[in-house]
Amino acid sequence: MKLRDIGEAGLIKWIEEELSSLKEKAVIGIGDDAAAVEVSPERLLLFTTDSLVEGVHFRWDYTSPYHVGWKGLAVNISDIAAMGGNPTCGVVSLCLSKDTEVSLIKEVYRGLKDIASLYRIDIAGGNIARSSVFVLTIMLLGEVRRGELLLRSGAKLGDLIYVTGELGSSAAGLTCLREANLKVPEEARRLLVRRHLMPSVRLKEGRKIAKGRFATAMIDLSDGLASDLLHLAEKSRVGALIYEDKIPISPFMEKLAEELGKSPLEWALYGGEDYELLFTVSPEKKEELEKLDISLSLIGRIVKRQEGVSLVKACGKRVRLRDKGYDHFRL
Ligand code: MG
Ligand code: MG
Ligand code: MG
Repeated sequence: MKLRDIGEAGLIKWIEEELSSLKEKAVIGIGDDAAAVEVSPERLLLFTTDSLVEGVHFRWDYTSPYHVGWKGLAVNISDIAAMGGNPTCGVVSLCLSKDTEVSLIKEVYRGLKDIASLYRIDIAGGNIARSSVFVLTIMLLGEVRRGELLLRSGAKLGDLIYVTGELGSSAAGLTCLREANLKVPEEARRLLVRRHLMPSVRLKEGRKIAKGRFATAMIDLSDGLASDLLHLAEKSRVGALIYEDKIPISPFMEKLAEELGKSPLEWALYGGEDYELLFTVSPEKKEELEKLDISLSLIGRIVKRQEGVSLVKACGKRVRLRDKGYDHFRL
């Protein structure tokens, strides 16, 4: 059997089962945005890791080394934010070929340093190894009070579904980068490309939501709204309904999609890499939540598991959402 036969999800499932006896200390193990370990009765240590691989996650012809450094840490901070936590300290592992320009590595570190200082994260070490392709792997630690920890698994029947920011802009930005000849107004291009290369990290928002104990479950949107909502629903053992006309879409993205004959909805549902937060809230907390100074959209509600996870189209028709998220081995 080859990896392509079981896919990334199949491999993760096998690893989870294989290691199930080794989780005495982990409060939260495999299957959430980050792992959690108890350090004191009140505090948990969070940790997460993510890689950017040349030719898989980015290409040098449209990504600067500065942006690789920035985004490498940004995607990890997003996972800590999705747990309601604060990032503290990271280690950086680099795989490099001997032909790599030293100036490129310096630029990667400049991007990394800029975002690390912005979020006050220490870089405390790492590892370097030789490889034919460039790989940047960051492992990031964070912390959270036990009562503020937010998991994918807490959504309850009747909860409201919220998302921060706007969706689909990162996928639109990637299209602008890959198709350099596209005629896109400069302002739109700049904004969309930035959403792809330097995604906003919703750390402040995640902390406000966690501190105010607003959410019952939370996840960050790395694979796309459809896949990540399916993940949250699966872990919470519930169904979900979201409404097409409530999904936040930037006017720039909508215009570009229109010009290219693409669907803004497809980008918003399946584009991925928006790194916004998706979370569920009990209806009693709605009013108080909406007073927070956060860019939020109420996009749907949690329903019974048997109803599945569906999108209600503008015409009223319901369609089941499918997991079209990126699988590294099923391409
Ligand atoms: Mg995540
Ligand atoms: Mg994660
Ligand atoms: Mg991640």
